[in-house]
Amino acid sequence: MAGYDAIIIGAGMSGMYQLIRLRELGMKVRVLEAGTGVGGTWYWNRYPGARFDSESYSYGFSFDPELLQEWSWSEHFAPQPETLRYLNRVAEKYELHRDIQFNAEVKSAHFSGDAWRVTLADGSTHAARFLITAIGPLSAHTLPRIEGIESFRGPSFHTARWPKEGIDFAGKRVAVIGTGATGVQTIQEVAKTAGHLTVFQRTPNWCAPLHNRPITEEEQRRIKDDYPEMFRRCAETFACFIHTADPRTTFEVTKEEREAFYEELYASPGFGIWVGNFRDSYTDPAANAEISDFIARKIRSRVKDQRVAEMLIPKNHGFGTRRVPMETRYFEVYNQPNVELVDSKATPIQRITATGLSTSERDFDFDIIIYATGFDGLTGAFDRIDIRGRDGLSLREAWADGARTLVGMLAEGFPNMFMLLGPHTALGNIPRSIEFNVEWVAALLRHMQAHDLTEAEARPEAVEAWMAHVMECSIGLLANEVDSWFTGVNKNVEGRQTRTIARYSGSAPAYRARCEEIAAGGYAELRLR
Ligand code: NAP
Repeated sequence: MAGYDAIIIGAGMSGMYQLIRLRELGMKVRVLEAGTGVGGTWYWNRYPGARFDSESYSYGFSFDPELLQEWSWSEHFAPQPETLRYLNRVAEKYELHRDIQFNAEVKSAHFSGDAWRVTLADGSTHAARFLITAIGPLSAHTLPRIEGIESFRGPSFHTARWPKEGIDFAGKRVAVIGTGATGVQTIQEVAKTAGHLTVFQRTPNWCAPLHNRPITEEEQRRIKDDYPEMFRRCAETFACFIHTADPRTTFEVTKEEREAFYEELYASPGFGIWVGNFRDSYTDPAANAEISDFIARKIRSRVKDQRVAEMLIPKNHGFGTRRVPMETRYFEVYNQPNVELVDSKATPIQRITATGLSTSERDFDFDIIIYATGFDGLTGAFDRIDIRGRDGLSLREAWADGARTLVGMLAEGFPNMFMLLGPHTALGNIPRSIEFNVEWVAALLRHMQAHDLTEAEARPEAVEAWMAHVMECSIGLLANEVDSWFTGVNKNVEGRQTRTIARYSGSAPAYRARCEEIAAGGYAELRLR
């Protein structure tokens, strides 16, 4: 059995950066990656139209000033192939491949007193003192639970398992099931070439314009000059984006001022309309109704057939209480003669057939079916590995009623296991959180090396206190009253039908402050041996 100081599961952004930091500690590290290349989310999600929803330059790694100057993003919101090229460039620069094993799907990880023993799908095993999960909050993709799904004779794909060679939709009859952020990006792209596109929408989402465009040379210079200042800003904002909530409340301004502010946000690029809105937009139901009404009017003005417009306006949740899909002429797609919208709540899909699918109302024939049906978020990737800690304790069982962590990075009963982007870490602009978590884990390991310590585990009372804080942060959020991956709901997964406090809803600065306090206090919240 091969022995390492640390095993990292996953070669996405968090696994890649953790490898770089652990090498600096002189550790012998092995990264186990199920795919054939680095990139994680950006390796797997190759569906047409996949691109950033946060500004490209705010998304890249910030730790290497040379790389920041060398790499030029082509668009304000870069498409997936460019992001994957960027991550490959990082891997090449740091020669990451020599410590990464590809095609290495981890099936189990068992702690046995002094080491983690990790078994791959091919039966081979590796051992290491430390186990670092870099498996992503949105990586365990889920197909819908629809009868007959195996029987379709044509090509069908989940968006997170898209064929590398791409798909030609020209003249084809295409179905897209699902209208989350992924479905929206897919639909607006497929509609350009498909012979006929049928969209099966169960719940409409509130979408807002991305306003993407190429970065000019002048902007490129400014972006590169401004990197330190921009990352400083991201470190201060609630969710690490360049946007942050407006300090005013919705009703402290006049109706005219409010409308003008909404118009300004709607015309601006990126997440500003969501995370840069009035600060009470997602806590005060009346404030939320106001912005929801504004977006509903926009949808009505962009969709010609008012019956279709009404179908596209969410009725069971307010704007921003689920992830807002960013769009580029998404609503106009429904004005095209080759596109049809089907309400899958009114007429549910009953089965997938050899030639298409049947709803409660009609039979449809398709050449291609696309499942944009999302992920078992936050804890799904953990559930898919048989992780056992002290005395054979199963993580799946320990978390059966919801994850329990200390700052999302440690779990009681699982010594020397550190989770990057585990449940209850600050999310938002993900790479900003990744860099913080990776550096926190590296600092802990440096501390352990310096003090000759070999085992670290969260203390039960510290987990209890963190969980109380996680609960407290979530009080009063309208998002808690809505089914989505934010609240741990996935109708396609057994046991994920009821809402939980599945994520950390406090601010990223508050999250980091708590983590830094733990480190500054000599890790008293951890049992170190
Ligand atoms: P999602 O938001 O969970 O959406 C899944 C969609 O599939 C929903 O519309 C859901 O309907 C539908 N669905 C699932 N099962 C179905 C069934 N049996 N029949 C009919 N419809 C079904 O997943 P996602 O769109 O992949 O997005 C997940 C997250 O990934 C996003 O929230 C975002 O955080 C991230 N993402 C980011 C980017 C970016 O930054 N560029 C792009 C894409 C995704 P219901 O709503 O009714 O369940």
